[in-house]
Amino acid sequence: PITYTSETINNLPVSKKIGVLTSGGDSSGMNAAVRSVARIALQRGCVPFAIHEGYEGLVEGGDMIRKLGWGDVRGFLTIGGTVIGTARSARFRTREGRLMAAYNMIKNGIDALVVCGGDGSLTGANLLRSEWKGLCDELVDTGKLTTLECEHLREHLTIVGLVGSIDNDMSCTDITIGAVTSLHRICEALDSLTSTAQSHQRAFVVEVMGRHCGWLALMAAISVGADWVFLPERPPPIDAARYGENWEEEMCERLSQNRKLGCRVSLVIICEGAIDQNLKAIKPDYVKSVLESRLGLDTRVTTLGHIQRGGAPCAYDRYLATVQGVEAVEAVLRSTPDIPAPMIGMNENKITATPLMDAVQKTQEVAKAIAEKDFKRAMDLRDPEFSSAYNAYIESHLLGLENENQIPEDQRMRIGIIHTGAPAGGMNAATRAAARLCLNRGHVPLGIKNGFSGLVRSEVAPISWQQVINWQSLGGSELGTNRDHPTPVAGTNVPDISDAYATGFIDCGLIAYALQKHNIQALLIIGGFEAFTSVVTLNAARQIYPAFCIPMVILPATVSNNVPGTDVSIGSDTALNTIVECADRIKLSATASQKRVFVVEVQGGNCGYLAVMGGLASGATTVYIPEEGISLDMLQRDAKHLNSRYLEEEIDAKKNEGRIIFRAEAASNTYTTQMLSAIFKDEGKGLFDSRTAVLGHLQQGGIPSPLDRIRATRMAVNCIDWIQTAFAEAKENRLISKGASKLDTAAFANIVGYNNNPEHAVVVGVRGSDLVFTPVEKLLDETDLEKRRGTKAWWMGLMRLIKVLSKYYYEPAGQ
Ligand code: ATP
Repeated sequence: PITYTSETINNLPVSKKIGVLTSGGDSSGMNAAVRSVARIALQRGCVPFAIHEGYEGLVEGGDMIRKLGWGDVRGFLTIGGTVIGTARSARFRTREGRLMAAYNMIKNGIDALVVCGGDGSLTGANLLRSEWKGLCDELVDTGKLTTLECEHLREHLTIVGLVGSIDNDMSCTDITIGAVTSLHRICEALDSLTSTAQSHQRAFVVEVMGRHCGWLALMAAISVGADWVFLPERPPPIDAARYGENWEEEMCERLSQNRKLGCRVSLVIICEGAIDQNLKAIKPDYVKSVLESRLGLDTRVTTLGHIQRGGAPCAYDRYLATVQGVEAVEAVLRSTPDIPAPMIGMNENKITATPLMDAVQKTQEVAKAIAEKDFKRAMDLRDPEFSSAYNAYIESHLLGLENENQIPEDQRMRIGIIHTGAPAGGMNAATRAAARLCLNRGHVPLGIKNGFSGLVRSEVAPISWQQVINWQSLGGSELGTNRDHPTPVAGTNVPDISDAYATGFIDCGLIAYALQKHNIQALLIIGGFEAFTSVVTLNAARQIYPAFCIPMVILPATVSNNVPGTDVSIGSDTALNTIVECADRIKLSATASQKRVFVVEVQGGNCGYLAVMGGLASGATTVYIPEEGISLDMLQRDAKHLNSRYLEEEIDAKKNEGRIIFRAEAASNTYTTQMLSAIFKDEGKGLFDSRTAVLGHLQQGGIPSPLDRIRATRMAVNCIDWIQTAFAEAKENRLISKGASKLDTAAFANIVGYNNNPEHAVVVGVRGSDLVFTPVEKLLDETDLEKRRGTKAWWMGLMRLIKVLSKYYYEPAGQ
């Protein structure tokens, strides 16, 4: 999905002078975008300029516009806000101001502008582009510039937009730079509030940012399992038919219902732009008074304010800003006068480019739809994910009033939920969402404890609503997980699963017996590669054990992200954030001690995902992964590169940098982490020192990141939907009617969804821009069972990007 290709990296294009500015409200990740734009521009033979203080710097000119060198953006990845400054420039809104901006750009020879900001900033950029020729003509006509100075520049100004905004309020992109970091800050605060609220049985009303967009509020509500959320796009009540405009009554009813079930906390999240059906603002103090007067709850209001903007960018924002920065430079180089200025966006895991003004107009239409009370349209205008996230929140977080969400009895099922493999952040959140959705719809969610060995020991019990109250934010696996694996059945068409990682093998007959005994009619298996091979094994044994002829869906959960059929697994984002935090500290220590290189070992089994993404997000110099192995040639090349970097710094009398190198744990049996460190140290011949750091199981633990909680919730809801559909399909096409007479269906009459359809054993996954369900049988073609990973690794292209960003290949312009 990543469109970055760098074959042409040494094929220098026509040199461009690219100005980069950050504008509007600051957001974490803007610095990573500036770093990426600057370094890719340099690698592409262009000259990058930083324009300080947003458009104000462009209007002001002089020192506010400065050439960027390689070292000027060093350390930018880890810093929140924007180092080059931002401002809201009134002058730029005037034509006079834009005339000055054009003058300053031409004086510096700048013919392309990368603008990172919100819809206002992008509108301003587009206006400058549309006026460009007129502005240049005026500058020449009034004698401010000569025709010669304007030559080449006056015909066309290249503009590319990057969206930096914590609100995530821009249309045509799923996510904007800074939104996820902001969500991190909100969730940290809410997790802390929940513990005090729990102690005192309090209610908290928390206001979060978002003037016209409820993304932060909604995602925070999903991430922490809030009892109620107020959004601008979807004013309350939820059930308008029943409550009319009296949302207060509905809110109180739902909150008191939760309290009756034993919940000690009530958490209400209010988006700063929240309104009621009549567009009247809903304010935290009013909600507090309602909760106090009607429910007698001890209620506190917390406004998170500017805390939400700041702090070190999370791993995702570093990645997003970096790859989008690359794409911005590529878009500059592709640009022609006929192509409308693009806005670089992200659709699921795919980088997109949309005409900038289309995106701006669509964004503004949301506010218009809200003003016209057309809330359905407002929801539709947001990306489809927003409304599906809203529905997921309602169905999997709020207990339906008087069974409002229950489905017909003959469609209800007993759904087993099992964890398998190593723990990963989000496993509990997925279980909570799936179980609560099941309860709301009338299914029976059965928690299977301790994996397949627990199943055969009959450790199976229905999950209740209150049992999973705080599971959203719990790390590890509350159900218990292990690496016990079903034994492949001889004679079935099962591929060789020589699972060296399995801690034990469980007889399929016993598993079949347990499934029948508990009348389990569908399985949701939350886990990593073991989950995949387990379902492959059970699917292959369906001819022998009809109890396996039930819908089975794997929700990929593993830090290694090695499950075939998905670009991302839950748990990997939590692990990445741990890696990035550790790497930041290590890099600081390395820089403080001067001239030190750290070789950092990360997990991931035979899959290099964590090393590559962690390396990209931490600014690693190089990364070693199992997919490529390690050779002497590589080590020579990398030692040479390190030497040249330190030598360069010494010659330029610059501060010696600390550097980090990532090594995936299984990158090589020969070249261990210790050995790499020793080799680099020796080869450095005193230029630098080297140390190692092994992150180990730190990467598996901790509180799940908001992204993992959201992905877990979304995938879990989709899995239950898929199970319901598969079950309905199975009922229609009973296997027996297809003539599979050798199976004794009578014995399994209670398994209503009885169905031997290979399409009914699947992995749910994000693939490019879609959420898809792929049968495990099909996925075997793209699985390396021995190496325990998929053969399609979208992130492999990022390996080269890491090198490009750490000055491999770089030839200073003009040489
Ligand atoms: P945020 O989402 O943080 O509000 P934004 O980019 O929408 O970011 P704005 O304050 O709307 O923030 O815009 C930032 C700057 O962009 C303004 O101060 C102004 O200089 C410029 N700008 C915005 N709208 C226009 C416009 N219509 N014409 C010219 N310049 C504009």
